[in-house]
Amino acid sequence: MSAPAATWSMPLKGVRLLYMHETDAEILIGLETEKKAVICPCCGSAAVVGYGKMNWRIRDLPIRKKAVFLEIKRRRLRCRDCLVTFNEPVSQISAQHRATTRLVQNVWKMALRQPFTTLSKTFGLDEKTIRNIFNYTFNAAANQFKIPPRPPAPLALEIRLLTILRHQRVLWINLDQGTLIDMDENKTLESIHETLQRVARDGAHKISVPPDAALIQALQASTQSALVLHLPSMRNACNDLITLGRSIDHAASYLATLSQFVGAKDASEAHRWWQDLRSPPVELRTKMEPLIVAVELLGAERFDAFGQPDHAYDALTGRLGKILSTDFSKRSYDVICAIVLFDKTLQKTARTGVSENGAHLGYQKTNYGTSIPKLVARLEKLSGDSALNYPSESET
Ligand SMILES: [Zn+2]
Repeated sequence: MSAPAATWSMPLKGVRLLYMHETDAEILIGLETEKKAVICPCCGSAAVVGYGKMNWRIRDLPIRKKAVFLEIKRRRLRCRDCLVTFNEPVSQISAQHRATTRLVQNVWKMALRQPFTTLSKTFGLDEKTIRNIFNYTFNAAANQFKIPPRPPAPLALEIRLLTILRHQRVLWINLDQGTLIDMDENKTLESIHETLQRVARDGAHKISVPPDAALIQALQASTQSALVLHLPSMRNACNDLITLGRSIDHAASYLATLSQFVGAKDASEAHRWWQDLRSPPVELRTKMEPLIVAVELLGAERFDAFGQPDHAYDALTGRLGKILSTDFSKRSYDVICAIVLFDKTLQKTARTGVSENGAHLGYQKTNYGTSIPKLVARLEKLSGDSALNYPSESET
């Protein structure tokens, strides 16, 4: 929200102002609908007659920290043809919440930046109402997210596993555009399959994956695309093992090979070192085996990333993981998902031409997902602001 308004401006259409009444705590604004022809929402008939009046009390944006209530005198109407009675429609009032559309939109925008407790104070609404508004808008955004048209499938796709709220989440990255295009709450076969169909329906040229057997198997069941080991993820896993193995006597030579492997300068060198890693010493076996199983599942292209420079987004996604798993540890998964995927101000869009049979028909806006550099900059700014240390929220 921009700076809070000092004066009230009319958010509704087709109503006239009756009174404004200000007390120390609140501002009451009386409104009345202007009589105009209404069509029956059930049968479309124009034979609609008045059936009494009702007073509606709805919330609007606060002014100078005072709660603002709109008291709207609105007609009840009745259709002569189908006998249905209904409320006179008023535009710019939320259909789900007793609030103006602009209040709902502002709550949503702020929910992507601040905890619900802060919003509750800012808007003078109780936390339950804030949560209701967030949940409703979140569900609408999530449904919208799944509707085509989708942008062209990326040639290079990367999958990262990040631990957020104690669980591994699957992050889908469009490497062509540097954008986050989806996030799965779990790495189940169904969710991987479904997301893959959506983000890379024609098949990506190459998919970069962490060394995780369940994830790799799910992908292999769903796509023919080449799966390549995501080098920074593999390097992290190996380095953890090297640190762990330092205290083990017989592991020294195996760990030396492991660090040679990690530093291999190209795919063929990586292949050579890998041969020596396939039978780890007993002390390291349970730790090393998951990596071995994962790597063995991958095809001939598995070590293609060796010798190539790390992608520019690798450092950023690493930071993203750190911020989301620490500073956001008290927020709900839905809030994190909303920030990561549904914040319009962070999205990368382009105008693309639409043509049919060689004739130019116009332009459409293509959404490539959330810009990783913008997202990381936003989150770092938020977590650097001490006022925004997230207090506990009992969101479920
Ligand atoms: Zn009717």
